[in-house]
Amino acid sequence: MKNKMLSNNLFTPLVTYDEWIKEFPKVDREYVWSYPLYHGPNAFDPRDIFMETDIPITSYDTVVYIHVPACLFRCPMCPFYVEIIKSRKELGRYFEAIIKEIKMYKMAALTKKLNLKTIYFGGGTASLLYPEEIERIIQEIKKVIPYNGEIEITVEGHPSTVDYNYLSALKEIGVNRVSFGIQTFCDCSLKTLGLHQTSKQNERVLKDCVNLGFKTVAADLLYRLPNQNINDLKEQLEKFINIGVNSISAYSLELSVRQSAIEKIQPTEAEDQSMFYVINDYLTSKGWDHTAQPDYAKNGHIQQEILTTWKAPQGQTIGLGAGASSVFNGNTYCNVHNIEEYKNAISEQCLPVLIGQKFTIEDAMSRYVVLGVRCFKIPYKEFREIFNCEFRNIYRNEIEKLKSFGLVEEKDDSMIVTKKGKYYVDNISKEFYSVSNRCRLQPWGEKMQGLISQSYLKVKVEEI
Ligand code: SF4
Repeated sequence: MKNKMLSNNLFTPLVTYDEWIKEFPKVDREYVWSYPLYHGPNAFDPRDIFMETDIPITSYDTVVYIHVPACLFRCPMCPFYVEIIKSRKELGRYFEAIIKEIKMYKMAALTKKLNLKTIYFGGGTASLLYPEEIERIIQEIKKVIPYNGEIEITVEGHPSTVDYNYLSALKEIGVNRVSFGIQTFCDCSLKTLGLHQTSKQNERVLKDCVNLGFKTVAADLLYRLPNQNINDLKEQLEKFINIGVNSISAYSLELSVRQSAIEKIQPTEAEDQSMFYVINDYLTSKGWDHTAQPDYAKNGHIQQEILTTWKAPQGQTIGLGAGASSVFNGNTYCNVHNIEEYKNAISEQCLPVLIGQKFTIEDAMSRYVVLGVRCFKIPYKEFREIFNCEFRNIYRNEIEKLKSFGLVEEKDDSMIVTKKGKYYVDNISKEFYSVSNRCRLQPWGEKMQGLISQSYLKVKVEEI
């Protein structure tokens, strides 16, 4: 059995200051989704996941995220680690490994105190799991994690992988939220971006979901598309709304090196900023809530997963499956990415953890704000109660700098991101990185590609 843990520097190497950050008024486009970063000098010991921690637990609200890192094709702009498969059957008995993994969490003392708010099947393409498999996973999660009241259950899908019968089966087993990477209804843009769907498929899948009566029908919308102008964007927004979508995540198109040719026909930075506010004004004028950047929802459809993951004080995230990331009990960690390697670890009754980072108190405090600004409000009262110190005393310089740019203001015992600041959420976030996290980039899955066959610390669950 191999027993060497991977170095954190393989995942989040130090880069130069200029590579790491864009200073206001330039907009930083690195989507800050993970914090703290893997930065500690010592390798992570997965046993810490289950041990008592001296780091304050900011909230017991919990999201269980199930990752399916498989797709039927590769999209050119995709930043994730995914394995390309030919059919659902190739996933084999992946779902059984996931069920075994959730059972491991019975070992953690913290588990009994949790309050399960939401279950999220994401990917890759989560809709490659059969509805019966999804149902079994939901049942087993409910046996392990305490809950109280309705649980939001989301399944993400790709428009080309589902039909009416599949969606109907999801509804039947209690899925109440579906989310699709629609991106646009413009066939020309879909083609230019190399996406594997048509506007007809996009329309059909959303209409089916609305007709079936899912509580929330969510869609990703891409803007700053090649040759797109403000009027095109407005037309797209109207299509999303008219079809009955009640939750939208609006992303500005980020191109990978593979697509640099398209960059020349992309709207400029100034146009990008205008488009951001066109979306913001349009949706908020219709009464939608800008819950987090980049997520909007109609009243009653605000995504619990966002509130649990981002909003300060943040809850716990248990990530299940190959490549899933977790934040639990004062640790952040992710699983091995390769599906076969993940299944092997589970069949040996080992934790499938590839790499991780135990929080320091400094990490925990800065995490409160680094992630919290994505929901635009940092309440000082809860910070005081959790960490027994004043937010303002610790971050005075950062707050004053951001206030002088007009990006944040202070009111109601909170730091609030202004309308101007909403466009600069990632710039604001990085101001609060602790020294040891600075100059490290986010651990996107595709960086893990070359590391999947390396060894990791195998800890048998019964030995904990
Ligand atoms: S963009 Fe989505 S569908 Fe395309 S390869 Fe990536 S995860 Fe799969």
